[in-house]
Amino acid sequence: MSGPRVRFAPSPTGFLHVGSARSCLFNWLFARHNDGTLVLRIEDTDAERNRPDLIEGIPLTLTWLGIDIDEGPYLQSSFLPQHKASAEALWEGAYLYACDCTREQIDERIKGNAKPGYDGFCRDRSVPRSETTALRFRVPDTGVTVVHDLIRGDVEFPHDSYEDFVVVRSNGTVLFPLANAVDDREMNITHVVRGEDLFPTTPKQVMMWLALNECKNIDEVALPAYAHLPMLVNEQRKKLSKRKDPVAVESYRDEGYLPEALINYLSLLGWSPRGEEEIVPVATSIEEFRLEDVSHSPAFFDVKKLRHMNGEYIRRLSVNDFIERSAPWVRPWSTSWNPSSVAVPWTEQQFDEKIYEDIAELIKERVATFGEIPEMVSFFFLADVPFDEASFDKTIRNDEVAQQMLRSSIERFASVPWDTDSLHEATLSLGEALGLPLRKAQAPLRCAVTGTTIGPPLFESLVLLGRDLVVERFRLALERVNA
Ligand code: GLU
Repeated sequence: MSGPRVRFAPSPTGFLHVGSARSCLFNWLFARHNDGTLVLRIEDTDAERNRPDLIEGIPLTLTWLGIDIDEGPYLQSSFLPQHKASAEALWEGAYLYACDCTREQIDERIKGNAKPGYDGFCRDRSVPRSETTALRFRVPDTGVTVVHDLIRGDVEFPHDSYEDFVVVRSNGTVLFPLANAVDDREMNITHVVRGEDLFPTTPKQVMMWLALNECKNIDEVALPAYAHLPMLVNEQRKKLSKRKDPVAVESYRDEGYLPEALINYLSLLGWSPRGEEEIVPVATSIEEFRLEDVSHSPAFFDVKKLRHMNGEYIRRLSVNDFIERSAPWVRPWSTSWNPSSVAVPWTEQQFDEKIYEDIAELIKERVATFGEIPEMVSFFFLADVPFDEASFDKTIRNDEVAQQMLRSSIERFASVPWDTDSLHEATLSLGEALGLPLRKAQAPLRCAVTGTTIGPPLFESLVLLGRDLVVERFRLALERVNA
């Protein structure tokens, strides 16, 4: 492939943050639009994060989302020799100096300084390198570093707002600004597309990059183009919080969101295709995606809207696809993958495949996620009606007329023809006799049979359950009132 080379460079956290997924998606859309290459590089050099259990999930989740990677996964830790060689080159070129200050000494000295950060104490002390010295980058005293950002334009960062930052710790660890720049150089990355939270670190990487270009024995490599994607914010317009907001892609997967719905929703966070339509097939997004069209204002990650969009995607599935794709939430014994968060309320013996096939069309219209299915249909499969006590009290126990409605239904339903139209007619006329509109007449019947006040269409459900069971449940509900 001759097109651009982009990378997705997550730090392992054990789950994929929706913001990271959005960054990965925009890299992917850009790569696919331009016949480019998407590289996956897992930035595992932070010792605490270098754990296989935190790393393994990343490619799996990307695969689930439908994002295919062209190269990698590479582990940043495998580029340590290059990081070290680059640090040596910078040292040779006098871009770095050794510093033996302790944190306490620095804090003591800079107390009350107008300019925060390291004060350059060791800059000209010619401290010899040893196991107790860090290596700091000599940030120019004057001037600016300009970052050419495809979304934000040219942004100037004055050097006097940067301290001489540490590039290599005393224990030898090469830090993010250098490691990240070296990896991008090694991998011939042409475009760095990532979250706005990293924008303040970009001048440091540009400084590293330009310094490396001037070092002896290091090839000159053209700087990549940068594109910093807008922040994702919550309802309070605050940065999404790992603790308070639902940010793990894997949780959405487990709740029964469709990957194509999530991809569609994420693609609209900071970008939009032409036209008003919000349901956009991924092929259209690939065709229309341009980094220059990405907005720089924060994007609201609206879980309600995502849920709504997922419902729309579910409604658009064929019945067969719905049955097949909802299987992990409905008959987990038959599937190789199951969502960790869902406990199906029925056993394999209680489950009735035929009934599920018959009701699939109806519930497909009513659920926003697959995870909502079990609660909605468990009354079909469980011998004991799964009563919601609050609904039962309100709809039956504390309502004399509703109980009367149940009593007359027991009589009428014993002989009424067992089809939706006849059941509808019968309910309507029994309700009228008691002064109840259809909605009110249906409520106690629904609650007696399903245990709650919401669910799939009532008369279709009664037909499927069969006369004997329905009449039996009406009786039991009345018994329950007195129990
Ligand atoms: N690994 C870093 C992060 O996840 C850097 C990512 C990048 O440069 O794209 O925040």
